[in-house]
Amino acid sequence: MYLSDTICAIATATAPSGIGIIRVSGPEAIALCDSIFKAKSRHSLLEAKAYTMHYGFIYDQDQVIDEVLVSVFRAPHSYTAEDSVEINCHGGPFVLQKVLHLLTEKGVRIASPGEFTRRAFLNGRLDLSEAEAVMDTISAQNAFALDASMKQLRGELSRLIASMRADILYEIAFIESALDDPEHISLDGYPEKLSDKCKTLLSQTEKLILSYESGKIRKEGIYTVILGKPNAGKSSLLNYLLGENRAIVTDIAGTTRDVLEEDILLDGMQLHLVDTAGIRSSQDKIEQIGVEKALTYAKKADLILYLVDGSAPITEEDRQIADLIRDKKVIVLQNKTDLVQSVQREDILSLLPNAGCILPISALNGEGVDALANTVKEMFYHGDLTMNDQIYLTNVRHKQLMEQARQSLLQVQHSLEQNMPEDFLSIDLMDAYKALGFIIGEEIDDDLAEEIFSKFCMGK
Ligand code: GDP
Repeated sequence: MYLSDTICAIATATAPSGIGIIRVSGPEAIALCDSIFKAKSRHSLLEAKAYTMHYGFIYDQDQVIDEVLVSVFRAPHSYTAEDSVEINCHGGPFVLQKVLHLLTEKGVRIASPGEFTRRAFLNGRLDLSEAEAVMDTISAQNAFALDASMKQLRGELSRLIASMRADILYEIAFIESALDDPEHISLDGYPEKLSDKCKTLLSQTEKLILSYESGKIRKEGIYTVILGKPNAGKSSLLNYLLGENRAIVTDIAGTTRDVLEEDILLDGMQLHLVDTAGIRSSQDKIEQIGVEKALTYAKKADLILYLVDGSAPITEEDRQIADLIRDKKVIVLQNKTDLVQSVQREDILSLLPNAGCILPISALNGEGVDALANTVKEMFYHGDLTMNDQIYLTNVRHKQLMEQARQSLLQVQHSLEQNMPEDFLSIDLMDAYKALGFIIGEEIDDDLAEEIFSKFCMGK
């Protein structure tokens, strides 16, 4: 990948739409676009000022290809910090491909996924965590995810990391200077000072690491697995929650063979719903695969919605399910309350003594389902969904690096307690400094950059 060439990509979805944008960036961006564009005003793009838009036509030799608006950005004041052009074409896949093809004929290279943002990073306009926030913004599916990625994009996480690194660097420099010049710089009393500093840094890292779990749930949704024996009403509940008939509902036991996954917004909270096949001992091969899957999904669930068919007595199957979910966050939904009940609250409690909550519902007519939202809100957000000023780690890469930094800082503390020589301290401080540097890309290798940016979409 070269920084010196000019790249292009379609930056909008390639489906028929009002407009479609082709983005061009690099040293020749303006000249090469000018070679296929004629402005109505007859002015050349080469003379265009930054942040101006020009109306005209794209030509393939003498043939008009599209009527367009062209925006001109000049380095370093553009997304990539390079000369850039955005061509607003009509949003048809064919016309966009045609204009793209004309550009490549002039020597512009098709960008790889994320290459525009990678250039912004390499040109110092964004640090790595900010670049990652760009992708998070694009994939945000709820208000929290958007808020968290915007904060990160605006550098809140970067500033915090930078200030932690500055603190660590100060200590490293102090130790090194004292070791170099013991006559003038004394290390008397220094271990106590460093220990205090370490405590502060450790509490910062720990708070950030802890923020990951709730941040992840807020960002990606609560991974919610619906369990219950066949015919308990899992598909009916999923359908009710989705508001449309996605799952096949029948009254022959065991027809939900595979898992169905859907995201819903429940009172502002995103739930990633997984409807599993009924768990039961079965000779049926396909059904057994379903059972195994249900178990795997249940293990990684943040929340289990356990449906008990209230109209039929508790069975061995219910006991088996209860055994699987004893340690999980569970909301028991006593379903089919519109029918005569064979199950009492006590029966459920004897099955699952620590059932956090038992809600009577009817998945068929939706009765009682509204209470579910409040219960989930209480369980996961302590009733409060409002945004706060806390900085959340929402990226697993950041969390792992933060854990590395924490381990190194713990090692510093350990060395202090053992009265180890000072160079031990500075080595571990340097490890913490580097781990934090990887988060914002101050420390980075090509493979990492490759991996991160390859997950981006085209044209970004
Ligand atoms: P699953 O096997 O757990 O997915 O169960 P389904 O959702 O397929 O439901 C099994 C049967 O129970 C269907 O005939 C549903 O219409 C019925 N059913 C589900 N929920 C209710 C309910 O709340 N009340 C009544 N009366 N029937 C229900």
